[in-house]
Parts: sequence; structure tokens; C-alpha cells
Amino acid sequence: MEYKHCGLKPWKSLKVKAYYTVMLERLSMESTLVKGFNVSFSRGKCLLNPSNVTVEAYKPGGFKKGVVEALALSFPPSKATYFRDWNAVTIKAFNRLIGVYESGKVTFCASGDEEVEKILDYVNHIIESTSNEIAEKGVPRVEDVESWSRLTPLDLYKHLPKTNCRECGEDTCIALAAKVLSGEKPLKDCKPLSKPENRRLLEEFRRRLGDKALKALGWE
Ligand code: SF4
Repeated sequence: MEYKHCGLKPWKSLKVKAYYTVMLERLSMESTLVKGFNVSFSRGKCLLNPSNVTVEAYKPGGFKKGVVEALALSFPPSKATYFRDWNAVTIKAFNRLIGVYESGKVTFCASGDEEVEKILDYVNHIIESTSNEIAEKGVPRVEDVESWSRLTPLDLYKHLPKTNCRECGEDTCIALAAKVLSGEKPLKDCKPLSKPENRRLLEEFRRRLGDKALKALGWE
């Protein structure tokens, strides 16, 4: 397989590894255009897999104001962490962390060209859909993003029917709440929540955190 951007291949021997180490050191000085980003590579910062490269990609002109906040609201709180001071969000996807900064910077670790392209495609996709949303609904409030980040299973539990009926496949409502917040299960698995007698619980949640939060938790 040809790795045309970052020169990465699985290491076949120490000699090959040494060769690619030199190549990567050279490549870290340069940048190349991938999926509309200026991309550069460096080594030694991917703690989970040290043979991967760190990718720093820059979108010329940066991202639309509010994109970072809108991204943080698009994922369950355990899948996205918002950093107000850095104007950035980290997203858990493809078994790694992807950092997105309003300045246009995107950082992640990757093993080769295919991964770099796949992840930048994904980033382009989520940025485009959040940018459209901002154009339609405006920039999200930082306060809403911060209260979303602090949402706990107990908070969500308050808006569930609390009958422990097990229809969702969990033994208790609090267990489903924890799985929904970790992104393991969608909220729509709680079928009783759509029954007329529980509409009040859902509406309270919607009033408190908005439609976007419900969607992020998997309520269609
Ligand atoms: S289906 Fe809903 S009400 Fe029933 S246990 Fe699961 S969360 Fe609770």
C-alpha cells in the first residue's frame, strides 16, 4: 500500500523503521494539502501507539464562529470535551481523540494516509453540518455547552420514567441513563418515554437542554 502523504508503512524491520523515522523527521518540516487542509506530520506524541504520527491540519481561514460549541453539543458529553479557554473541542471517534479548534486547526494521531484522509473527510462532514446548523439557528450559547458537559446520569434519570421495566434491555433506568451519556445506547431505546403519560418528562428535558441535546443522545 502506498502512503503518499506521510510516508507511513507498518514497520517490517528495524532497518525499515529507522528509514521511515528519518523520512518522518523530514516530513514534519513540510506540509501538504489533504482534503482542503494544510497537513503536517510529526512523531513522538501519540502515547497510545508511538509508531503513529501526529497530524496537524489547518483549514485556511479557520472555522465559522460557534462551530466548536455546536460540535460539543452534537455528541453525548462523554464523547466530546469542550475547552472554553482554547476555543476547542476534542471528539472521541475512530478509537482516538480528534482536536478541533475554531482557528482551523485539527489534530489527531494516524497510522497512514488512508486514516488521515478518512478522518479529514469525517471532520469536513461534521464541520459542514454544524456550520449549516449555525447558519439556520445561530451560534450556541457557551453556558448551554457547559451545562451540557456537566450532565450526569442522575440528571438524565430524572427525565426517564423510573419504572425499571427493562424494555430497553437494561435492568434499571439509571443504567440506561449511564449508557446513553457514554454513547453506548441511544435514548430512543427507552420506548416508554414516547408514551403519552411520559410526554411531560420529555418536554421538561427538551425545555432544559433543547432539541439538539435530545438528538445528540439518540432521540429521533
Ligand atoms: S425502558 Fe425506559 S423506563 Fe424501562 S427500564 Fe429502560 S429506561 Fe427505564
